[in-house]
Amino acid sequence: MVLAEILEKLSNASGVAGREEEVRSLMKKFMKPHVDEIKEDKLGNVIGIKKGKKNAPKVMLAGHMDEIGLLVKTISKEGFLQFTKIGGIDDRILLGQKVIVYAEKGPLHGIIGSKPPHIQKEEERKRVITCDELFIDIGAGSQEEVKKMGVRIGDPIGFDIKFAKIGKNIVIGKAFDDRVGCAVMAEAMGRLEKTECTIYAVGTVQEEVGLRGATTAAFGISPDIGIALDVTIAGDVPGVKEIEAPIKLGKGPALTVADYGLITHPKVLRLLIDSAEESKIPYQLETGLPGSTDAARISLTREGVPSGVISVPTRYIHSPASLLSLEDAEKAVKLLVTALKKIPKYF
Ligand code: ZN
Repeated sequence: MVLAEILEKLSNASGVAGREEEVRSLMKKFMKPHVDEIKEDKLGNVIGIKKGKKNAPKVMLAGHMDEIGLLVKTISKEGFLQFTKIGGIDDRILLGQKVIVYAEKGPLHGIIGSKPPHIQKEEERKRVITCDELFIDIGAGSQEEVKKMGVRIGDPIGFDIKFAKIGKNIVIGKAFDDRVGCAVMAEAMGRLEKTECTIYAVGTVQEEVGLRGATTAAFGISPDIGIALDVTIAGDVPGVKEIEAPIKLGKGPALTVADYGLITHPKVLRLLIDSAEESKIPYQLETGLPGSTDAARISLTREGVPSGVISVPTRYIHSPASLLSLEDAEKAVKLLVTALKKIPKYF
């Protein structure tokens, strides 16, 4: 399967943090033909292992399988669902969104509603409607009916967005954060022939709620090097200053120098920069991001693990649909494969 098809399948799958089953089974399917062993740990991280030479470095790759979303919090007498957020979501993007409630008996479609603007007071119209004033309408007439439909408190809710190609190599879809990282990792496993290093390609769980899956996976693997595959903010849109977000779409993968949780180990940064330059892959360096990635947790495992990040520039992350360039994703795969081959020279 080509990278775009892998991304499409992963993007259309549901995987609100803590409920990554659907993405996990796809990751197993995509990695299985290309690895020597595939495992799942107790938290649900999926680990594809490509065995290398004895005593060569152990490398942990991480792409997080989970996405931001909502959970059913209460069910009103009239049959509306109130919800809580899981992961960083801006309240302003919620109103009017189509969503899917993943109830035990099967998925249910719904829409996020609020008091109609026509009957709002002037002050109400000027301010942001916060998530506790919003509700989900699944077309049920009462609390009993909602319960009969199989909805329970805590059921995950995802955005109802389908993957689409909208321009030459430009795609939009749900949860590119971090299905594109998962796709890049799975595709790299397919392209990588025998390596000296043993590679642990990990689809991690619960990244969006505090890098949790990577924490336990890294403890179990005890790697010598860590590389997270994730997205970064592409700031090339109106109203964003270069100093706020200098990474651009279509200019190649971004390499983190430092973010809120990680200072990339100089040897890992050298490895990634050399790999890009020798293979003539354009790249962008990035510092000062307020967030972080699984690499932050990998780097603090046991006695410490030199770690870095390869990111695909993505617009509108943490909103229902995001946008990226398949060229950037393709270049991220090339960069990762090149770097994995070169590791023994650096470590
Ligand atoms: Zn992410």
